[in-house]
Amino acid sequence: MNQSFYTVEKLNETTFRIDECGRDNCYLLLGTERALLIDCSIGTGHLPTLLLSLTKLPVTVAATHAHGDHVGAGYQFESLFVPTEEITLNFRIQNTRYYRRKLLSNTMKKAGVTKKNITGCNFRARWLPLEDGKVFDLGGRTVRAIRTPGHTAGGTVFLDETLHMLFTGDSVCPVLPMNTYRCLPLQSWLPAGERILALAKQGNAVFCGHGDGRISPELLLQQLTWVREILSQYPENAKKHSRTYYPAFSAEGCVCFDKANLY
Ligand SMILES: [Zn+2]
Repeated sequence: MNQSFYTVEKLNETTFRIDECGRDNCYLLLGTERALLIDCSIGTGHLPTLLLSLTKLPVTVAATHAHGDHVGAGYQFESLFVPTEEITLNFRIQNTRYYRRKLLSNTMKKAGVTKKNITGCNFRARWLPLEDGKVFDLGGRTVRAIRTPGHTAGGTVFLDETLHMLFTGDSVCPVLPMNTYRCLPLQSWLPAGERILALAKQGNAVFCGHGDGRISPELLLQQLTWVREILSQYPENAKKHSRTYYPAFSAEGCVCFDKANLY
């Protein structure tokens, strides 16, 4: 366990972005009675210890989806809410130490992470079903879970109805990730993108699961346009899988998709 892989950014008096290795973001929201941790990242460090330095409130953990870079540290907590559709053997296996090391360690080399830094077995972590519409009452602050399938079937965003913040995990990101494990066909993402853009236009600040966490309404609108352009250029699925960036790779904004998984 190495606590130095975490950095904390205070977004406001009661909200923190916790960055793990410059790769993943999870978010800690404080109410007066409880705290909510949205996602728990990979688990190169001991997250409960870090949380104790930020709050003494009891912490509920809830995940936007069940990829190993969002629920990898789940075994460090008594339980966590996971979208019901993703409480499956397949996602459980993705979260074993073996797969987290295999799939994630290479992406964190620059931060000095090695396979040995990824520990703990998530296979037996207690995953509680997270249903669409569930409301977390933190005391003076309510947060609603909203399904936005696309990146995964159970993809969920969390709307802070009190402070007007929206936490999206990978449902939207500057590099829109539509070519990872169990992504739905690209076309299925459009309603999610539209819903999130509508919430952004209503004045909810959007915070996502990667990079510095920020994504603007302008980029959300651009990504919707890009996805529609991709679908009009490729009217049917290709036979071979391929990772493709549109219009080209840019960390500032693009769509990553698979020509064999459009429809
Ligand atoms: Zn993901």
